Amino acid sequence: MDGSLVHEARAALAAARELISELIDEGVDHFERTATPPAPAPVVRVPRVEHGESDARLPERAARAEHAASAGGSTLERVRAELGDCQRCPLCAGRTTIVFGDGDPNARLMFVGEGPGEQEDRTGLPFVGRAGELLTQMIEKGLGIPRRSVYICNIVKCRPPNNRTPLPNEVATCRPFLDGQIDAVRPKVIVALGKPAASLLLGRDVAITRVRGTWQQYRDIPVMPTLHPAYVLRQYTEENRRNVWEDLKAAQTRSEQD
Ligand code: URA
Repeated sequence: MDGSLVHEARAALAAARELISELIDEGVDHFERTATPPAPAPVVRVPRVEHGESDARLPERAARAEHAASAGGSTLERVRAELGDCQRCPLCAGRTTIVFGDGDPNARLMFVGEGPGEQEDRTGLPFVGRAGELLTQMIEKGLGIPRRSVYICNIVKCRPPNNRTPLPNEVATCRPFLDGQIDAVRPKVIVALGKPAASLLLGRDVAITRVRGTWQQYRDIPVMPTLHPAYVLRQYTEENRRNVWEDLKAAQTRSEQD
């Protein structure tokens, strides 16, 4: 088969998968077989209108969604399917649930944390424990946007024992899946939460208190490193809260440009 046919077949498969998962989300649990199969219609994802989003942004969101559906490249469903019931590193032995990611697959703003904690491991959702509550508050009350309008994930998808920092081999093993998520979402800005996420994305060991608030880059995507919400909870000073607030505001502003 020539390359363009393969590409088209992949795109059709990805679009079909996406459509099915949307129908399931909408409560459809079975399909009636029609006498004559209807002619295949092009699948165009209907972009969700988020709180505070102007109509002017819809065509751009639709184009981004269509790109994701037709590129034949990464979609979140594909990346999740590739991850499967991962046994690639020792973290699998201690996990209850893989914590893949949460939020809008077409988000302009993406948050990358370190790894699931206890609550995340139980629920399968990132940032739902105490640190998660603070992050959610900062997004919803601080930035004034719903949490579901951003995309949130971690550098490792399984909980490290006793919430220790993930080891280099664990981070390296999980990295293709984070890269896949970044490719699929194509965010305008990534916020790196804490040292491990910032060090991974910047490609060097960083002191988070030094680099926070400074624009960096991962591939062609602007990265704003900031303090991890768990650190802010531990060091609940006005300065730390103000710094994170300023970083998130800068990230939001840049993510809304063009
Ligand atoms: N801390 C993280 O880095 N990620 C989570 O999902 C929860 C806590």
